Amino acid sequence: MHCPFCGAEDTKVIDSRLVADGDQVRRRRECLSCAERYTTYEMAELVMPRLIKQNGSREPFDEGKLRAGFLRALEKRPVSVERIEAVINQIKHDLRATGEREVGSRVLGELVMDHLKQLDQVAYVRFASVYRSFQDISEFRDTIERLEAEPVSKNVD
Ligand SMILES: [Zn+2]
Repeated sequence: MHCPFCGAEDTKVIDSRLVADGDQVRRRRECLSCAERYTTYEMAELVMPRLIKQNGSREPFDEGKLRAGFLRALEKRPVSVERIEAVINQIKHDLRATGEREVGSRVLGELVMDHLKQLDQVAYVRFASVYRSFQDISEFRDTIERLEAEPVSKNVD
C-alpha cells in the first residue's frame, strides 16, 4: 500500500507478528522514500454474505434468528444443543465458503432444510411446512412420503 505520509509506493516490512490470538497480523512498515514508519493490520475477511430476500431487499445474516428457527423446529425433539450449535457453525461455514457478498435467502433456507433432514425428520417436516408455506394437508403428505422414500442409513433394517 502507499505510504500514508508521502504517497510513495515502495515500503518495506520491518516487523511482522501475530496479534489478537493469531487472528491478525500486525506489520510495521517503513517508507523507502520518506523513512516514516506506520503499522498495518491484516485479517482474513470472513464476512457473512448478506441475504437477498424474495422481494429483492437485502438483510444482514442473523445468527440469532437462525438459532431461533432451529430451536422452534426442534422443540421437544431429542436433539442436543451441541448438535444444533454444530449445525449452525456448519451453515455459517457453508455461507462464507460461497465467497459471495450476497446470497439468496433461499440458499440459507435450503441449507437449513438439508441439515434438519439429517437431524430430525419431525423437525424437518415442521420447518418445511412453514418454509414452503404448505397450503393443505396433501403437501404434508407428499413431503412425508418423499422422506420415507429416501434411504436413511441409520434406519436400515
Ligand atoms: Zn513516505
